[in-house]
Amino acid sequence: MADESIERVHCLIIGSGPAGYTAAIYAARANLKPVLYQGIQPGGQLTITTEVENYPGYAEGVQGPEMMIDFEKQAKRMGADIRYGLATKVDFSGHPHKVWIDEEKLIEADAVIISTGASAKWLGLPSEEKYNGFGVSACAVCDGFFFKGRDVAIVGAGDTAAEEALYLSKLCTNVHMLIRKDEMRASKVMQDRVLNTPNIKIHFNTETEEILGRKQ
Ligand SMILES: Cc1cc2nc3c(=O)[nH]c(=O)nc-3n(C[C@H](O)[C@H](O)[C@H](O)COP(=O)(O)OP(=O)(O)OC[C@H]3O[C@@H](n4cnc5c(N)ncnc54)[C@H](O)[C@@H]3O)c2cc1C
Repeated sequence: MADESIERVHCLIIGSGPAGYTAAIYAARANLKPVLYQGIQPGGQLTITTEVENYPGYAEGVQGPEMMIDFEKQAKRMGADIRYGLATKVDFSGHPHKVWIDEEKLIEADAVIISTGASAKWLGLPSEEKYNGFGVSACAVCDGFFFKGRDVAIVGAGDTAAEEALYLSKLCTNVHMLIRKDEMRASKVMQDRVLNTPNIKIHFNTETEEILGRKQ
């Protein structure tokens, strides 16, 4: 880090998904002159999907990458400074906050908004990858609608799995929860909700080894 350059900014935003661009729009409108670093996935997770149907304002639905270009344009139009780069180290122990970009540039910021998103925890099966988008999904709210009136299966036993199962129980005929152990990890309240939903069927001691299907 011999040639480390330092820049002082008021508001630094890390991440360029819907959260990052929304923060950039609001911060720019509040005259906070936000600087946003996009990270390795400019536009975030929605850039790897096709149709987004649940975002207000797009009456006919919209392609994920197209929507994220719109988000970026809006943030830029408001005056946000959008840049390529990855936050590789932070030091929030003092003020101003310190964030290193690509291990070489140091940004000192009065405020840092972290909007680095989250990613789904996949099983790691090749067949899961093969059928992703063809009946396999990691987001009930995103894709549940396509399985309305059908039987579906959820792998997992934590709070997230329980939440997804409850959501799908309102759309699907039956929701089968495939649970590796002989107990659920979800909080007691979530377990009670799941167990009291008649169309959620729990299968304990059930390991998911393979996903079979057809790509159509
Ligand atoms: C295939 C798929 C389909 C989906 N479909 C829908 C849908 O139809 N409807 C719906 O509501 N939701 C859908 N989702 C969920 C939706 O994409 C997420 O809820 C949303 O993207 C979360 O937004 P976010 O801004 O929090 O994070 P993300 O979109 O995850 O963005 C995170 C950002 O942080 C950046 N970043 C991470 N680390 C760093 C770092 N160190 N330095 C700088 N930047 C960094 C990344 O480059 C990225 O730009 C889908 C998700 C997937 C994967």
